[in-house]
Amino acid sequence: MKIGKLGIMGGTFDPIHYGHLVAAEMARSEFNLSKVLFIPTGIPPHKNRSDISAGELRLEMVKRAIQDNPDFTCSALEIERQGPSYTVDTLRILSRDWPEHELFFITGTDALREIFSWREAEEILTLIQFIGAARPGFDASDFLEQVQQEHPDSLEKIHYLEVPALAISSTDIRYRVKHCQPIRYLLPEPVRLFIQEHNLYRSSAKSKM
Ligand code: ATP
Ligand code: MG
Repeated sequence: MKIGKLGIMGGTFDPIHYGHLVAAEMARSEFNLSKVLFIPTGIPPHKNRSDISAGELRLEMVKRAIQDNPDFTCSALEIERQGPSYTVDTLRILSRDWPEHELFFITGTDALREIFSWREAEEILTLIQFIGAARPGFDASDFLEQVQQEHPDSLEKIHYLEVPALAISSTDIRYRVKHCQPIRYLLPEPVRLFIQEHNLYRSSAKSKM
């Protein structure tokens, strides 16, 4: 018997920005989630490791970004894990730790379109549902049609969520910092200050904490 709903927002968060926070907040409200758990990825299997800031730095930015929202929390579960990080392993742990909660994995529509290429995708869909938040440039309608045809049983577990679309990405923020362009108002001010203090994204060699 499930008594509550937990949102899970996974991401590299290098750095976290308002696109992530708006998607999480709108999903929380629309789906009555009691909490949203932000989980910075460990070593993502599909990203080049040397390209990514240390997990501790990414986690600290998440903490600063969510500090004023009592419904948001974060977990070091993935960054503390050794080796490549697969979402299915995390979800198995979370479904064990939150047995009385229905789990909802929140993604942008770019990530949503990829979920069937994730390791053990079918297994993932037995553990959780997906909420795909609109992201500019990534239309979900073709994907949803494809799901209807190829994975009809999964359709009821994949929800599309219209949110005020924000064309913000971490890639663009890193580019802006590197090229001395402004990032203020793209992300929470405490995160902007953290980037400044730690001199992140200034050069291609990423800081280690
Ligand atoms: P990068 O450019 O480094 O890939 P990103 O901005 O895409 O960074 P991620 O950490 O890769 O951020 O994304 C984590 C999750 O947040 C993904 O599911 C992604 O789709 C979603 N997301 C990121 N930015 C937005 C946005 N502007 N609107 C909606 N969802 C977003
Ligand atoms: Mg991304």
